[in-house]
Amino acid sequence: MAMARRAQRNMRNSPLRPMHGDALHRRVIWVDTVRVRDVASVLARLDRGLRAMGYDAFRPGQREAIELLVSRGKLLYVAPTGGGKSLCYQLPASLFAGTSIIVSPLIALMHDQVRGLSARGVAATFLASTLDGHEMRSRMRNMARGTYKLVYVAPERLAYPGFRSLVADMRCPMVAVDEAHCISEWGHDFRPDYMAIGGVLAQMPDVRVLACTATATPVVRDEIMLRLGLPSDAPQVISGFARPNLVLRARDVSGTKESVAQVDLQLDETLGSPYEARDGGAAIIYAPTRKAAEQQTQRLAALDWRVGCYHAGLAPIARDRAQDQFLGGNLDVVVATNAFGMGIDRSDVRAVIHLAPPGSIEAYYQEVGRAGRDGETAYGLMLVSNRDFALRRQLLSKDGAGNSIEPEIVEHKWQLFLELMRWSEGGSCRHDAILRYFGDEAEVLGGCGRCDACQTLASEGRDDAAVSLIVRKALSAVARVNGRFGMMAVVKLLLGQVDPRLTRVGLDRTRTFGALAGEAERWVTRLLGRCITAGWVEISHDSRPVVSLSRGGIAVMKGESPVRLLLPGRASVSVSSRRETRAKVPPPELSAAATHLFEALRRCRSALAREASVPPYVVASDRALRELAMLRPRSRDELLAVHGIGPAKVERYGAALLQVVQQVD
Ligand code: ADP
Ligand code: ZN
Repeated sequence: MAMARRAQRNMRNSPLRPMHGDALHRRVIWVDTVRVRDVASVLARLDRGLRAMGYDAFRPGQREAIELLVSRGKLLYVAPTGGGKSLCYQLPASLFAGTSIIVSPLIALMHDQVRGLSARGVAATFLASTLDGHEMRSRMRNMARGTYKLVYVAPERLAYPGFRSLVADMRCPMVAVDEAHCISEWGHDFRPDYMAIGGVLAQMPDVRVLACTATATPVVRDEIMLRLGLPSDAPQVISGFARPNLVLRARDVSGTKESVAQVDLQLDETLGSPYEARDGGAAIIYAPTRKAAEQQTQRLAALDWRVGCYHAGLAPIARDRAQDQFLGGNLDVVVATNAFGMGIDRSDVRAVIHLAPPGSIEAYYQEVGRAGRDGETAYGLMLVSNRDFALRRQLLSKDGAGNSIEPEIVEHKWQLFLELMRWSEGGSCRHDAILRYFGDEAEVLGGCGRCDACQTLASEGRDDAAVSLIVRKALSAVARVNGRFGMMAVVKLLLGQVDPRLTRVGLDRTRTFGALAGEAERWVTRLLGRCITAGWVEISHDSRPVVSLSRGGIAVMKGESPVRLLLPGRASVSVSSRRETRAKVPPPELSAAATHLFEALRRCRSALAREASVPPYVVASDRALRELAMLRPRSRDELLAVHGIGPAKVERYGAALLQVVQQVD
């Protein structure tokens, strides 16, 4: 019921519906008759244009993004903050005929960018409420004359009729939407003004659209596409997330004493001692609360570290001092809440230590990413304790002003936090797990070799007999199935569950049948997932994926190569044991087959969302889709077992979801 109400509300407010009462402005804007010629000419001038702007070379991903944008017309570009997304609209805008519009959320940022562009010889300006009437009119007049290559505007400006008719009359080859995740109610930085953008773009069907963001989770990406009205097959480029120079670690600590010891060890490893601090280099310690930040600051000061404290409760002058001292190299350590960091541009931060996990993998990666900007080795240490669950729950339920937050939002944020907690368990390379979480498959390292998970795997004695035996059993089940069936059949074979497929080919009479009987189905599924990640099990890429052993897998099965694998945690040692029933779900890593299904389910979710004019998360969360992809429900009842899918959703979307599961077997 609540679900239905919410869906209705969303439909009423939805920016996805065509905006009525706007007929006045519904003119076709600049029909792109010269498009083909345009594309070739712009592509041919990219390198020259780049150099004209003062850059030597593209960063990875930039050229690909620009070429796709120019040739395909619509693009979602995801790269981390500081990754160089601006160039991907600035360069083409400087080459297109006409004036491109850049939607940007912060006036300070617009100001910086316009200044930077002017210095590089590109005509640009911005329109913001801070300008006086005279200046505004003068800029708009120039805009109408086509003086500028780029005009930055705040999203609310798009709603002004004066601005819209101006745009309607000029030649606008591209609209770039910076910080596009601000359009997502689900994201962490929702700005209602962004909702207007879709309506404006709907009136400019031929305009090129570039949406840029650093937030890449699938549900947010899908919502951006939908709300901006980008076709679901529009390309998405995700790149630049890999930070292999970071040595990532997470440690369980059971109390203050252990936590303090870990902090001191990490400072010692990276900075030396307070008396013999190595040249250059500093550490940031993130504390979950202001109080914790102050306590840690005092402790480190007593140890003679040059330490500063930074949180939003301090007077601006004290904050500025801490920040300036840190940037000027006069502090070794700054202890801060997450208020610290925006715009921190110190490249030699050698360690980022989290006294407690932050709210999500996104937040963690952004914060730890402040280490090692210079590309040299730097450390990221996250301390985790059982108390963090209660602490986070508390932090989640109130906003900064102490008001309660909507239960649905709290629940969503809680799930984001649990993703981070599962990551902290560390079943496989920490970098690879993060890159997969962001959907950045192309940059997966195949094991960084330096994170704690990779180190544990490499350490002696891991190839113990018990682990080997279990893994070899799993692999021999794959060998028995060998190209005939998919993953579920292997799981059933190992568990000894009767299945017509197995019976038909006599696999229920082999010794492998029930070889892992007694284990939980999800655990076996996760184990096989890890065998795929390790490269031992292969999955065919057709519509009915079947599994087989790779050459490496055969060697491991026969005992010719060592088993280097961490078994997935069992319920007793995993997150779920921490009195968290909700966490009893598979970790974010999906097997290749499940990933394939997950992607199909995402497409289905987008279609359903479009049909009902609701954002994708109203249909299902990423977590629900991941679970669907792992569990492969066959019936409405089985659907109900999936986290976040209740009777209303089964009623509304069940048939469509089940059909996808059935088709993509
Ligand atoms: P984002 O928008 O992704 O957060 P920016 O576009 O602000 O990042 O880029 C961050 C910095 O990187 C800027 O100072 C920019 O000038 C620089 N930069 C971007 N692309 C290149 C390049 N190809 N070569 C050198 N510097 C670049
Ligand atoms: Zn690793």
